[in-house]
Amino acid sequence: MTKKFRVHNFNAGPSTLPLSVMEEAQAEFLNYAGTGMSFMEMSHRGKEYDAVHNKAISLLKELMGVPDDYEILFIQGGASMQFAMIPMNFLLPGKQCGYAVTGVWAEKAYEEAGVIGNAYIAASTKDTNNNRIPAFTELKYSPKDAYLHLTSNNTIVGTQWHDFPDTGNVPLIVDMSSDILCRPVDVSRFAMIYAGAQKNLGPAGVTIAIIRKDMIAGAAKNLPIILSYAAYAKDNSIYNTPPTFSIYMVAKVLEWVKEQGGAVAMEKRNSAKAKLLYSVIDESNGFYKGHANAADRSMMNVTFRLPSAELDKKFMAYAATENVVGIGGHRSIGGCRVSIYNSASLESCQVLAETMKKFQKNLG
Ligand SMILES: *Cc1c(COP(=O)(O)O)cnc(C)c1O
Repeated sequence: MTKKFRVHNFNAGPSTLPLSVMEEAQAEFLNYAGTGMSFMEMSHRGKEYDAVHNKAISLLKELMGVPDDYEILFIQGGASMQFAMIPMNFLLPGKQCGYAVTGVWAEKAYEEAGVIGNAYIAASTKDTNNNRIPAFTELKYSPKDAYLHLTSNNTIVGTQWHDFPDTGNVPLIVDMSSDILCRPVDVSRFAMIYAGAQKNLGPAGVTIAIIRKDMIAGAAKNLPIILSYAAYAKDNSIYNTPPTFSIYMVAKVLEWVKEQGGAVAMEKRNSAKAKLLYSVIDESNGFYKGHANAADRSMMNVTFRLPSAELDKKFMAYAATENVVGIGGHRSIGGCRVSIYNSASLESCQVLAETMKKFQKNLG
């Protein structure tokens, strides 16, 4: 069916972006700032590009409260390339690194590290289908480890770390691909934060890496330039052509986040959206059954199933008639997954909540 205008888009990533951001990009699409060309048609060495590039960095710094002893880098290859770059840079010979394996992405990160060196499982939630977050006391790591790696939000199963362990001298590296800037975090607790942009920050094509400078200084030296954090830091992420249009869009999304009131406002907004949807699940007398343990529920990905796979399908078809799209669960767990990243509106969540209630009522 051809849609007349914008649907209620709950895609898991790439995902919905703020309408005002899209309209702004549209308005200057053919003629950026009176240059007579699109932003995507101009040199990454020009002053227009440079201004946007640095604005994206300074907005990230401001909105996340990134201390001065951190670098903010833009890298291509997605969060998946970080799975490889992290051990290549930080897992030096003779060292080991731990991974909390709490979902599909966490496991992929762990497996990739194993290709490079000695990676071990610091905690695993596989035995309960990754429906929970490990207690801090379950995390096994030792003081000499190169780092401990966590995935702050498990996009596929819908669990989220609501707090982070204090790992002392062991550098804590966190994949925040699906919840970066969804709430305030104390960046100084982490040696590195990284995130593919396409969930919470913009379109696909750029990955943000926020890395403490001493980590970069101590990183492996014998790396191909394009895989070395030090090289990105040295050239302000413009060693080669960066994904210019993606970074331009990220800058716009960050401006939008700032207008909304920053990380604090995002958390408020996200928690209202999540609360609304979880309350429909909890008040459905078991019709909608959440996947995640209540205490570990994600503010970003709400996962649930109906009493049968057939009803899952029927519900999704019904939701589509209400312009609610993108709610199919990941193939590894089935059911439904509703992704409500920063840009998803409360209004869309309200439509979905009503749709869920109506569907249940109509069946009963
Ligand atoms: C989506 C996702 C990834 C993979 O990102 P790519 O940019 O596609 O490589 C990694 N980690 C998490 C937590 C994700 O949600």
